[in-house]
Amino acid sequence: MMSLAASSNMLILSVFESELRGLEEKHLLRNIISRDSMQGPVITIAGKKYLNFSSNDYLGLSGSPEIVQAVQKSLQRYGFGSGSSRLLAGGSVLHKNLEDSIARFKGTESALIFNSGYSANTGVIPCITSEDDVIFSDELNHASIIDGCRLSRARTLVYRHRDMGRLQALLKKAKARRRLVITDTVFSMDGDLAPLNDICEICVRSGAVLYLDDAHGTGVLGGGRGALAHFGLKAEPWIIQMGTFSKALGSFGAFVAGSEDVIKWISNAVRSFIFSTALPSSVIAAAAAGLRLVQRNPALVGKLWSNRERLYDGLKSLGYEDSASMTPILTIRADRVSKVLGLSKYLYGKGIYVPAIRPPSVIGPRLRITVTAAHTERQIDKLLAELKKAEIGAASQ
Ligand code: PLP
Repeated sequence: MMSLAASSNMLILSVFESELRGLEEKHLLRNIISRDSMQGPVITIAGKKYLNFSSNDYLGLSGSPEIVQAVQKSLQRYGFGSGSSRLLAGGSVLHKNLEDSIARFKGTESALIFNSGYSANTGVIPCITSEDDVIFSDELNHASIIDGCRLSRARTLVYRHRDMGRLQALLKKAKARRRLVITDTVFSMDGDLAPLNDICEICVRSGAVLYLDDAHGTGVLGGGRGALAHFGLKAEPWIIQMGTFSKALGSFGAFVAGSEDVIKWISNAVRSFIFSTALPSSVIAAAAAGLRLVQRNPALVGKLWSNRERLYDGLKSLGYEDSASMTPILTIRADRVSKVLGLSKYLYGKGIYVPAIRPPSVIGPRLRITVTAAHTERQIDKLLAELKKAEIGAASQ
C-alpha cells in the first residue's frame, strides 16, 4: 500500500501534469530543439537540413576556423576545466588579456568577464544599488535585467517602452541616494533601439547612472563597437556597459565595462562573479578570437547590414512592414499564438527554421527572424518566397 507521504508527493506531481496540459491547450508548451550540426545559416535537426533564421550568431563566427583553432591551441596549453572562481586563480592570463582588450574596444578604463549575460545582469544590478536607491527600467528590458532588479533592494520604476517623457517625469519625482537608469540598447524580441542620445542627456541632467545591456549591439552596431559608437557617444565614467561574447562574437560569456572603481567594486561584491567557477580558458580564447575578427573585418558587419536591408525590404514588399525594427532582428506579428505557430510550422515543413515567440517571453506573439552575415542572398530570397506562398495559402483558405 502507498504511504501517506508518497501519495502526497504524487499529488504534487499531478499539479505539474495539469499545468503542462494547460500550457499545451493554450499553445504555449515549449519544446527543446537539438541540432546535430554546427550553428550557422544551415543547420541539421534530426538528420534533416534547415535554413536557419533563429540564431544570434549575427556575424556567422561561431564555427569560424579562427575561433576553432584558438580553442584548440588554448586546450593544449590550459586544458579544459578552470577549477575555481577567478578570485581563487580559476582564470588564466587569457581572461586578463581579454578584459584589457574589451576595455580598449569599449573605450572604458576597465572590464570584467562574467560567465553569461544572465549572470552579469542578475549579479551586478543588485550590487550597484541598495534600499536607498531607485532603478528606472524600460518595460521591454531583457528578463535577466528584470530578475536583477528583483534581486536588488532598490525600488524599481518601470517606464513605458522608449518613452523619454515618462522616464524624465519619473526621475523628477523620485529622490534617492543613487538613481540608475537601465536599458537594453537593442531590444531582443523587437529589434528596436533605445534612444541613447536622449537617455544620456536625461541622465546628465538628472545626475543618474546609466547601465546599458549591449548584448545585441556588440559586434552589430557602430561598426561592431556597439550602441554608444552607433549613436556617436563616448564611454563615460557614469555609464556601465554590459555585453556578451555569445552572440555576434561567436563564443560564450559576457563582460561588464566601466570605470576602474566601478569594476573593482563589482569584482569585490557581485555574488555571481565571486561564487561561480571561472569560464574555461578555451571559451575565453574563442571570445578573444571573435573580438579580433570583428575588429579586423569591418566588411563582415557591412555584410550583416546589407543582408538585413534585403530581408527588411523583402518583408515590406510582402506587406510585413516591421515599423519597430532597426536591426537584424525582424518580426512578423499576429494577434493569435496559433497563427504564428501555424506560420512557423509551415516554414519548418519547407525546410526553414524560424521560431515562434510566445508569451511569457513576449506580450504579443510573433515570428522572430534573425538574419546574419553568413546568409546568402539566395537563402534570404528562399525565406521570402516561402513566406509569400504561405500568405497566398492562408488568403485562399
Ligand atoms: N541581455 C539580453 C538583451 C539578451 O538578449 C540576453 C540573451 O539572450 C542576455 C542578456 C543574456 O545573455 P547570455 O545568453 O549570455 O546569458
